[in-house]
Amino acid sequence: MALPSPPPKTTATATINRSSSDGGTVILNKYQLTRLLGRGSFAKVYHGRSLIDNSSVAVKVIEKPATADPAMEPRLVREVAAMRLLNHPNILKLHEVLATKTKIYLVMELAAGGELFTQLTRRGRMKEATARLYFQQLVSTLHFCHQNGVAHRDLKPQNLLLDRKGNLKISDFGLSALPESQKDGLLHTACGTPAFTAPEIVRGKGYDGAKADAWSCGIILFNFLAGYLPFDDSNLPNMYRKIHQREIVFPDWIPKQPRIIIQKLLDPKPKTRMSVETLMGLSWFRKSLKPDPTLELYDEHETNKDDSLNSIKSKTTMNAFDIISMSSGLNLSGIFEEKMMKKELRFTSTAKAEEIEKTVVEVGERLGYRLKKRKDKENSNNKRGVIGLVKGRVIILAKVMEVVPELLLVEMTVVDGGDGFSEVQWDELKVGFQDIVLSWHSDVQ
Ligand code: ADP
Ligand code: MG
Repeated sequence: MALPSPPPKTTATATINRSSSDGGTVILNKYQLTRLLGRGSFAKVYHGRSLIDNSSVAVKVIEKPATADPAMEPRLVREVAAMRLLNHPNILKLHEVLATKTKIYLVMELAAGGELFTQLTRRGRMKEATARLYFQQLVSTLHFCHQNGVAHRDLKPQNLLLDRKGNLKISDFGLSALPESQKDGLLHTACGTPAFTAPEIVRGKGYDGAKADAWSCGIILFNFLAGYLPFDDSNLPNMYRKIHQREIVFPDWIPKQPRIIIQKLLDPKPKTRMSVETLMGLSWFRKSLKPDPTLELYDEHETNKDDSLNSIKSKTTMNAFDIISMSSGLNLSGIFEEKMMKKELRFTSTAKAEEIEKTVVEVGERLGYRLKKRKDKENSNNKRGVIGLVKGRVIILAKVMEVVPELLLVEMTVVDGGDGFSEVQWDELKVGFQDIVLSWHSDVQ
């Protein structure tokens, strides 16, 4: 359903005529969409060809369904703004934004080499020199972004793409925050993907986006060199405990210098964590370092860094999306929804376990759920309880677990009758828990 409509199958020629199946969907008489390149959490990305100059592009197609997920609007606006603000050879360029009544199309530079992650799973861990090469590109690009007041905040191998020549292209600025959204110099939105997310983000405290990115760099460098992740997210409470205690087990083949760097980047305390600037000064990092590609860019434009950013800003013209998003008459909130109904709800809380359990019961009863007998009350090994809520055929289990001292994780799962359970019901529960929630958890992709 998020697919652009397939080539017509009703005409007799459609099955024989190669060009019609080859051609894919044409959008707004400008781009022809061909194969699916990838799927994100909110969109599908297609390979596209410009009908004007025949160039290849990537087109991210975002549906505007009837029912809405208001969370999408700021995400999209941020993504567009961040991508257009940053002009760097290692950041995917956004060519234009097209919109129809039902869809929004982000036309981007094509990363023909696909995801770096695919390479990692296919070929296994990288040699030190290869890992360093990608890492240098990643870190230098982040440094550039941070200097321009933009942190990525959702760094993970899936968002690291490659161009035809194998150069790194960072994608998915959807979660990045722009300078305007910084309050007291600290960011306040909880976001990211569990295994790659800095502990201060998980804790929901105000945090420094650049330091949070430095944390993710530690995870990524480990991932490059080991071929697997330092913290396994199949068991969240365990994972958080390990992160908090910096319990990292290095495979023997990781050399000493990158090992120390990883250790320093994965410091759970952002204050003492190594910064991107410090990292860039280290001899391990500087080995065979290519000249900063942005210097070339500035020479080309015969301008200094600050002017260059301004000229980028002023050069960008208004497009359909800007007009839609800026028009007060057209409310963009309420046009998006998540495609799949989630069967699991997770949040962290600093409230006492008893208070959380009491709230779960109260909210449940208020919404017409019946309390199911607690199975594990007598089990002294399990300090935290499991609460069952029943309404009709729907059974929800709420588990309250201590992650680290004073931080609890609550997991609510629809264990039965899921098909009779609607998004509205989740929302009702979410509203009910509002007061005890520290941060909601995005799902592991
Ligand atoms: P989301 O923000 O919804 O997570 P992404 O921007 O991460 O979506 O895109 C989803 C996937 O599509 C990526 O992981 C990647 O495989 C593919 N993709 C995205 N952009 C491009 C691009 N410019 N070129 C090639 N593939 C891309
Ligand atoms: Mg993504």
